[in-house]
Amino acid sequence: MVQENCIFCKIANGEIPTRTVYEDEEFRAILDMGPATKGHTLILPKSHAADLYELPEETAAKVLPVAKRVAALLKEKLGCDGLNLVQNNGELAGQTVMHFHLHVIPRYENDGQRILWKPTEPGAQELDEVLAELQ
Ligand code: 5GP
Ligand code: ZN
Repeated sequence: MVQENCIFCKIANGEIPTRTVYEDEEFRAILDMGPATKGHTLILPKSHAADLYELPEETAAKVLPVAKRVAALLKEKLGCDGLNLVQNNGELAGQTVMHFHLHVIPRYENDGQRILWKPTEPGAQELDEVLAELQ
């Protein structure tokens, strides 16, 4: 289903022209207009889902194979040295467009980007408590 006023629905379904890297029946992979690095690609499902929580399982299962194809393309054509997959859910986590998308970010020597987190040191007890909460 497509959601009115959703820009990524319009882009994914070809209503708004965009730079398409890959397309199949269910997905369109496009160049990000504000790329972290050369070739930064977004994989968009054509059917609207706001985020990972809303994404149907069957669609979720098809996203990673698309990411593999895009990753191979970026390596072959652009010669990237590494690659990050990033997927933000919710404003707090940095999501700005509320239509599920997976970032495929090629990495290059000295590209000046830092797509990492700051590790913490919780200790064994705290980790055990988290595990208990999840069980
Ligand atoms: P988010 O922060 O939601 O994970 O990522 C949204 C991404 O979409 C950003 O990297 C932003 O540059 C990109 N973006 C937003 N609007 C458009 C658009 O209209 N066209 C393209 N190609 N990229 C967009
Ligand atoms: Zn949408």
